[in-house]
Amino acid sequence: MSMDESSQKRDSDRPAVLMDAQTRKLMAGSKIMMVDDEPINMRVLQLHLTAQGYGRFVSVTDSRLTMSTIRSERPSVLLLDLNMPDVSGLEILEQVRADPELKQLPVIVLTSSSDPETKVEALQLGATDFLPKPVDANELALRMKNTIVARAYEQRLKHFDALTNLPNRLYFSRLVQKLMKTSETANGRFGLLLFNINRFKSINDTFGSEQGDDVLWAFSQRMQVVFDHAQGISPLRRETLKTHCIARLGGARFGVLVQLGKGLVDEAVVQDWLPPLIAELEKPFVVEQQDVYVSTSVGISAIDDNARTVENLINNAETAMRRAKEQQSPSYALYSSDMMSAARRALLMENAMRTALVNEEMALVYQPKVDVRSGLISGAEALLRWENPELGFVSPVEFVPVAESTGMIVAIGHWVLESACLQAIVFRRECNPDFKMAVNVSIRQLYEKGFHQSVDEILKRTGLPPEALIIELTENMIMDDVEANIGKLSQLRDLGVSISVDDFGTGYSSLSYLQRFPIDQLKVDRSFIMEIESADEKAPIVKAIVSLAHDLELSVVAEGIEEQVQLDHISKLGCEEYQGYLKSRPISAEALQQLMLEDMKKCA
Ligand code: C2E
Ligand code: MG
Ligand code: MG
Repeated sequence: MSMDESSQKRDSDRPAVLMDAQTRKLMAGSKIMMVDDEPINMRVLQLHLTAQGYGRFVSVTDSRLTMSTIRSERPSVLLLDLNMPDVSGLEILEQVRADPELKQLPVIVLTSSSDPETKVEALQLGATDFLPKPVDANELALRMKNTIVARAYEQRLKHFDALTNLPNRLYFSRLVQKLMKTSETANGRFGLLLFNINRFKSINDTFGSEQGDDVLWAFSQRMQVVFDHAQGISPLRRETLKTHCIARLGGARFGVLVQLGKGLVDEAVVQDWLPPLIAELEKPFVVEQQDVYVSTSVGISAIDDNARTVENLINNAETAMRRAKEQQSPSYALYSSDMMSAARRALLMENAMRTALVNEEMALVYQPKVDVRSGLISGAEALLRWENPELGFVSPVEFVPVAESTGMIVAIGHWVLESACLQAIVFRRECNPDFKMAVNVSIRQLYEKGFHQSVDEILKRTGLPPEALIIELTENMIMDDVEANIGKLSQLRDLGVSISVDDFGTGYSSLSYLQRFPIDQLKVDRSFIMEIESADEKAPIVKAIVSLAHDLELSVVAEGIEEQVQLDHISKLGCEEYQGYLKSRPISAEALQQLMLEDMKKCA
């Protein structure tokens, strides 16, 4: 046994200091970098330190490599010899302290020079500690331990709240970030319960801020007890609710990160387990012999597609918490996408829309157009529907403008046109050889280079005759740039398709322009039809539109016919066709086919 090994043995036999597990862990995990021109010194030290529980070492004998090694290794502590050739220890110390990234690095200086001036100089240059050579390994181990523990305390201050001793927002954010990177969040659902003590300011004002702090402290203590024991909730639920972290997120806001078993975030189930916990938390606190009553509002959000970042998660919980505050009861709310701000919803919609077609989230429904005289279905308008797992059902009134502003309407519109044409062929073959399909087209599509060519291509590919297709454009769209639009519409019309002006009467059509437009049909907007309450009514606008259309040799479709009187009236005025709930809401292709076959039977 060499001398080194025997001394190591002695050291490890002797329990030098009583240490808690946390300190041991800190020591084992700390990286110790030694700089000395004598490798043997470092070997001896390393053996001693290993015996004391240190585990990670880096040695540098060439002092010129010190700075670069510090930068690449990022040690926890630097043990620095002062007397070295090339670059002296004091020079290295100076450079370390001058580097903004490294200036906090603990440096313990080791030197054989017992001269007190060197010692003072080293301390002046920022040495954390100083030890004379030959080094007493036990003393060094203890000094290093103290340095490391002090550093850990500083770190802890950064991550923990001084008042409640709970993890703070920074710690909480890091924890969630880590979780989000693992697949754990995909398996079990993780949720944030955000507790806010209502009107905490008035507690501060009434009792003073010191007592206010007492309440916060007491509340934080109680939270830990309540969540540790899942107080007041059924054993079954207790099984599934796992608390991961309770943190103070700022002011009177506390966050609880929980792993939610399946279904725990359903409205009905939350109602089961959350209120008992809230009731426990809201029991009065006694501060200076006075009862202090607190009430809380709780917002709940889950790590899911609505919350892919920590900020999302906390923001969503805050949104829900504000909602909870507004309502009388219950005092909690689950975040749902309709609580989202309009801007955020538009952003989410934009992202979800990119994959909506591939994921088959979009579909067409058809609303029949009825011939007023015969009462038979003459065609249908194709209307787009979108149902997304996160956003739910989104109305075209909401998503079409987003699709237009992002340009995605071009791809979506192409799909609509092609699908509607394919469906029209089926309707013509199975039900009515004269069936006409109306498709809504956005101005953005009309302006897409070669739009008329792509319509032509779709017609040829699907085999639908052009006269069976009606393109609907709204009045406002086409009146925007009259000359350009006349050109575009003519190109379409040259293909043989018809043009219909949607929502007519709501825009600002100039009648002289209307005459110049290559169009075939006007659709009277639903708002004018709504005003018809009896068959004898004058309803001057509808009457004027119908007579104008006929003078221009255009056909008229009445939109939004819900009542028989409305139908009677527009029939009297001479409208050719109508659409509306009276006949049918927009329905699936199968349902429309059924409806057409029934109609035919009635007439036969
Ligand atoms: P629009 O083209 O004027 O379509 C008529 C709207 O009125 C449809 O709403 C329809 O469901 C509704 N409606 C029909 N009959 C009645 C009735 O009797 N009473 C009431 N209250 N409403 C009735 P929807 O499907 O929500 O579509 C809204 C708008 O979204 C459409 O207005 C159209 O501008 C746009 N849109 C729908 N699909 C597409 C599409 O594929 N492409 C483009 N660019 N826009 C589309
Ligand atoms: Mg339309
Ligand atoms: Mg319309």
